Amino acid sequence: TIGMLALDKNGDIAGACSTSGLSYKMKGRVGDSPIIGSGLFLDNEVGGAVATGMGEEVIKTVGSFLIVELMRNGMTPQAACEEAVKRIVSKNDDYKNFQIAYIAMNKSGETGAYCIHEGFTMMKYENAKNEEVPVAFYHK
Ligand code: ASP
Repeated sequence: TIGMLALDKNGDIAGACSTSGLSYKMKGRVGDSPIIGSGLFLDNEVGGAVATGMGEEVIKTVGSFLIVELMRNGMTPQAACEEAVKRIVSKNDDYKNFQIAYIAMNKSGETGAYCIHEGFTMMKYENAKNEEVPVAFYHK
């Protein structure tokens, strides 16, 4: 999945996600990416979030919606991404066998990102500059 969040000069949020789907998936499987609230969620009063990884776990926790609601209640994008990953990890003894990553941004343009296992980077474009940001992770 490629997830994108943007904040324009008027302060409006936009977001998108693609999906590569999962390898060896069941025929007819629908992942999290096309389900609003799971793979992607935006609220122009709060911010947005996007997911990648094991879609079933993201769907079960309505992950992107959860992150936006946590931000609505005052969490930073980083803390909200961490809480959403921890929610999944706490419900799955086998979290070592799958990956999930979230990125989030609020209306002030603050960003956050978190994943279960090391290995993701996030690209941040701000003030005409591209920056590669390593994504913090839960488990080494
Ligand atoms: N989240 C996608 C899915 O479960 C997989 C991906 O990250 O591309 O279908």
